[in-house]
Amino acid sequence: MDNNKFGYGCMRLPVFDTAYTYHGYHAEEALREALVKRHPRDSFELTTKLPLRDFKDSEDMERIFNEQLNNCGVEYFDYYLLHNMGSNVYEKCKKYGAFDFVYKNKLDGKIKNVGMSFHDTPELLDEILGIYGDKIDFVQLQVNYVDWEQPNVQSRRCLEVANKYNKPVTVMEPCKGGTLVNVPKEAEKLMKDYNPNASTASWALRFAASQKGVIRVLSGMNSLEQVEDNTSFMADFKPLNEEENDIIKKVTKIINENTAIQCTACGYCTDGCPKNIAIPKYFALYNSIMRTTGSFSSQMVYYNNIAINYGKASDCIGCKQCEKACPQHLPITTYLNDVEEKFENNNIIPTRK
Ligand code: SF4
Ligand code: SF4
Repeated sequence: MDNNKFGYGCMRLPVFDTAYTYHGYHAEEALREALVKRHPRDSFELTTKLPLRDFKDSEDMERIFNEQLNNCGVEYFDYYLLHNMGSNVYEKCKKYGAFDFVYKNKLDGKIKNVGMSFHDTPELLDEILGIYGDKIDFVQLQVNYVDWEQPNVQSRRCLEVANKYNKPVTVMEPCKGGTLVNVPKEAEKLMKDYNPNASTASWALRFAASQKGVIRVLSGMNSLEQVEDNTSFMADFKPLNEEENDIIKKVTKIINENTAIQCTACGYCTDGCPKNIAIPKYFALYNSIMRTTGSFSSQMVYYNNIAINYGKASDCIGCKQCEKACPQHLPITTYLNDVEEKFENNNIIPTRK
């Protein structure tokens, strides 16, 4: 097993991920200054994505791609992904030839490896790879032990489809947006009893890297401490043994019993919300409050503070724009009702200025 299984996902850094959807061109320029100008091109691998939600037509794809190359200051991308492929953009991609577009750029040497990040059903993945598999080199999937059998993600089944088409898999969300770093005490104890020196994150990353067909696990680190911890065990990666896999099953059960809303905090839902509701922040607070006492706690203070600058849960007008954007297919509006019930009823929210 080589140590090349580990990759740095920049989405969890404040403004550094090159993908348009996250921070626009500023991140590309920052990356050009910090990485491209300071290191030989063959000493690093660079990945970015075509924003499937945002391109208008074929010419627009061309414009965006050329801008990405120029802004990053590179001649080619090592990995270029169709970003967040799923039923909401699949027809558009077919109509404007997105698969042919990335493949042509690969033939022209501007892309080394074509991929797609995918957040939909195994059935759709099977359909896409059955039709366009010859144009796709790899698939990026959400793989973590909590989502392994979750009906809204289906990590295991999606991975099996990728294996069926012999497509290598890069893994996103191995720690599920940090959920698998801060696990319930009872779950943490199981892990610590087995290996006191292993961090909770190490279990999650090793689980993802242990799966068949996985070539790279992308960890969204945002502190030096996390980089040091992650590289310490991924540099000498060892797949989980049987005993460790059994512990993971028990940990999964505990986490599921303690997680009300399976939100990964990706933030896709907030962009078009007409009420500027801080959806992932509220869901994280809700999960915390449900995990502890299930009643008032310091999370209430956080809720009130956030609600000063953002829309409250009760401001939701039910347009469901957020639900269309959510890669986890969460019933966001229903959950916002739960959040409202918990945080706003019996609680005074300060008026927004
Ligand atoms: S349904 Fe509510 S939370 Fe979702 S985008 Fe519309 S207003 Fe915002
Ligand atoms: S609700 Fe969905 S889209 Fe919004 S942050 Fe959570 S997982 Fe992402």
